[in-house]
Amino acid sequence: MSFVLHGAGVSRGIAIGHAYLASHAALEVAHHILPKNKVNNEISRLDAAFATVREELKLLHASVIGGPASAEFGAFLDLHRMILDDPTLLSAAKTYITQNLCNAEWAITQQTDVLLIQFEEIEDSYLRERKTDVIQVTERVLKALLGHPGYIPPPITRTGDSILVAHDLSPADVLQYKKHRFTAFITDLGGSTSHTAIVAQSLNIPSIVALHNARQLIHNNDVLIIDGDQGVVIVNPDKQIFTEYQLRQNQLELEKKKLKRIRTTVAKTLDGVTIDLHANIELPQDIEQVKENGATGIGLFRSEFLFLNRDDLPSEDEQFEAYCTVVKRMSGLPVTIRTFDLGADKNLDSNKRVAANPALGLRAIRLSLAEPKMFHTQLRSILRASFYGNIRILIPMLSSVPEINQTLRLVDRAKKSLLDEGIPFDSDINIGGMIEVPAAALSLDIFMKQLDFLSIGTNDLIQYTLAIDRTDDAVAHLYDPLHPAVLRLIAHIIQSANYAEIPVEVCGEMAGDISCTRLLLGFGLRQFSMFPTQLLTVKNQVLRSYLPDIRHIAEEILKSDNPKSIRALLTKLNS
Ligand code: PEP
Ligand code: MG
Repeated sequence: MSFVLHGAGVSRGIAIGHAYLASHAALEVAHHILPKNKVNNEISRLDAAFATVREELKLLHASVIGGPASAEFGAFLDLHRMILDDPTLLSAAKTYITQNLCNAEWAITQQTDVLLIQFEEIEDSYLRERKTDVIQVTERVLKALLGHPGYIPPPITRTGDSILVAHDLSPADVLQYKKHRFTAFITDLGGSTSHTAIVAQSLNIPSIVALHNARQLIHNNDVLIIDGDQGVVIVNPDKQIFTEYQLRQNQLELEKKKLKRIRTTVAKTLDGVTIDLHANIELPQDIEQVKENGATGIGLFRSEFLFLNRDDLPSEDEQFEAYCTVVKRMSGLPVTIRTFDLGADKNLDSNKRVAANPALGLRAIRLSLAEPKMFHTQLRSILRASFYGNIRILIPMLSSVPEINQTLRLVDRAKKSLLDEGIPFDSDINIGGMIEVPAAALSLDIFMKQLDFLSIGTNDLIQYTLAIDRTDDAVAHLYDPLHPAVLRLIAHIIQSANYAEIPVEVCGEMAGDISCTRLLLGFGLRQFSMFPTQLLTVKNQVLRSYLPDIRHIAEEILKSDNPKSIRALLTKLNS
């Protein structure tokens, strides 16, 4: 049956392929088809694994009795035992093996997903949060099945035209998928500027989030058309639609090829003003795309991705190597390394209980200041790499003067420790701050006195100004970059920085959205940082823009408080 689903497009383009239903990435296992005579054996393996886990839980329970947190821990283990005994898990997994002739690992992950979806629908938020326990129990069973603890899931080996269909994925999950080849990516949950969406976008494939129940409605191997521009998924399309989309896909490929011609062209407006077009990256390997798209620097290296998907922290030497790889490949062009922005939706320990409002909690610089040893290690590694190229340090989520002072003191301490050891670094390294909290935007003069440059994180600035969780699909429709409050704040930051002659850049998603290119130029912005794959499209827009005309309409937009007229003026600006 053919049907259509609507969500929020986060990465543009069209993909046509077959659905591949993902389970939680931490539970990815290989899928094998078994001969009928092996089914009983597989069911026995599953029984044995469940028995092993039951025994493990019993032993654990015995070992905590009388201990300091015996009641809490005991309750936690009871819950795990209940999950283990839930018929949805074991008996349904057995039926799954019999019906689908598959391995026990595969059957158990499929049943876990069914259970997770049921949990998602529970109204009581405490019970809903027990999803994590379901995952932990399943992980135990998988380890038992594989016969050893500390099991690391094998990589999925999908190739060709697979489209990843997931209920929800953390940024760390998506990062794992960077290693695998999918032609598109869709999820039920998530906002269009959530970090999950951002990593998905860096995969350079069409992607859509906030589809609500795609994971439930779509089956493995269904034919899918993903229209990332419109945020539309067409499931099992008829022949006519299929052909139309194939044509459109070819057209887009041609346009992409044409854009490659301006890769080395300087990004200059029609009236001769040069604009810096920088790239955002998450990992050193992203540098290939940066080169392919002719960026003139890295405006945002989200260094926290070096810290995800691992049990330990990256050492000073490991971080140094990563920063050096990037800086050397950029051959003297600026590389802006943001210190780790962990917390909120990017947690070191994905199973750890998070605060009720993690985006307002111990995140970014707040976490760095709370973990000075970890911060010191990172600062030393960045400083060491600064000797080999043109590095700037960028501090995320600053909101007050004491925070800036404390941060600068820690940078000085890291510099001094290197000096004492005779290790070279760039002693004039520039330190900048991300402006992504309204408090910072509204007290900019204080920030400009202490910092060498500013970078506007529009993703968070919009989230914090409009009080809209950027990861929550339920309020995704309220997330509005064109809200007058947002536009006025952005224009104010750019104009104040220009007046004070402090370099200012936009590195949030707005910088790569061509419907906003002229508006930001009109506000006075001259430095943009975005996904490498958006760069040539934005450059094309810059090359066709004439600043004196733009300024005038941008001013009119700023004066307007009516969403309809703002959008009408923006259309005029872009025509
Ligand atoms: C932003 O907030 O706009 C930004 C660039 O940082 P991140 O998206 O990583 O929070
Ligand atoms: Mg941010």
